[in-house]
Amino acid sequence: MELKVYINGKLYPKEDAKISVFDHGLLYGDGVFEGIRCYNGRMFKFSEHIDRLYNSARAIYLEIPMTKEEIKNAVKDTLDANNMKDSYIRLVVTRGIGKLGLDPFNCSKPQIIIITDLIELYPRELYEKGLDAIVVPTIRNHYEALNPKIKSLNYLNNILAKIECINAGAAEGVMLNKDGYVAECTGDNIFIVEGNEILTPPTYAGILVGITRNVVIDLAIKAGMKVKEEQLTRYDLYIADECFLTGTAAGIIPVVRIDGRKISSGKPGNITCSLLEKYNKLTKLSSN
Ligand code: PMP
Repeated sequence: MELKVYINGKLYPKEDAKISVFDHGLLYGDGVFEGIRCYNGRMFKFSEHIDRLYNSARAIYLEIPMTKEEIKNAVKDTLDANNMKDSYIRLVVTRGIGKLGLDPFNCSKPQIIIITDLIELYPRELYEKGLDAIVVPTIRNHYEALNPKIKSLNYLNNILAKIECINAGAAEGVMLNKDGYVAECTGDNIFIVEGNEILTPPTYAGILVGITRNVVIDLAIKAGMKVKEEQLTRYDLYIADECFLTGTAAGIIPVVRIDGRKISSGKPGNITCSLLEKYNKLTKLSSN
């Protein structure tokens, strides 16, 4: 069956799912988006994703012309139309069609696009073996320039970092902030384990406040583990006992090497594996 894509209330076959070249989403990266998972017919952390989408939109002065409930129903209808039970959903809101020139106020209505497809961010075997990361030269956007909390269509900052890590032969790139503290990876949040403590950069380090990050923090606390949001340097990464990344598409993925330094034994650590197991269980059981 051919994939159907939702654009502004209508479903189009993949080949016909097109938007105007005058859409400011294309011309300027002016818009916001979410990546959401549906596991076995159940939406995972749906409300959290929709809330974040609306917050991103508010931050860029974009009024989404649908209620949260309407958007949720549109996502569900698109999944049904594609007969999909397991999916990675890309929900996009662009500024809409306008003239050339930055002014967003001459744009027509924001366009709403829903793509329900599949995604494989990292090869399967890396979940067992762990991946290699490097710290990339490009720093994460300064929060007073374009706050990383906004999940905007302008992902060039992350794409430049991705190019740097791919060129260096690494699977992921760790981005520092303007003060040299660890922020996050190109499309994932980062955690380390030191002794019996789980550490992750605080939101004020200038990061996307990952929904998976929050789920993992909750899972760890519920399991009686100690979690701290703390500023981390490259040194902290190098001497960590364990390291892993979190994201909607990736789930939890172990990191076993950073800038050539082996993390502990060079194998995914026990705490990482135990959290990965808990996360997999939760996504299978999830009903929100
Ligand atoms: N940071 C960045 C820059 C991201 O793009 C993503 C994934 N969208 C994340 C972190 C992880 O966020 P989440 O767990 O909400 O998918």
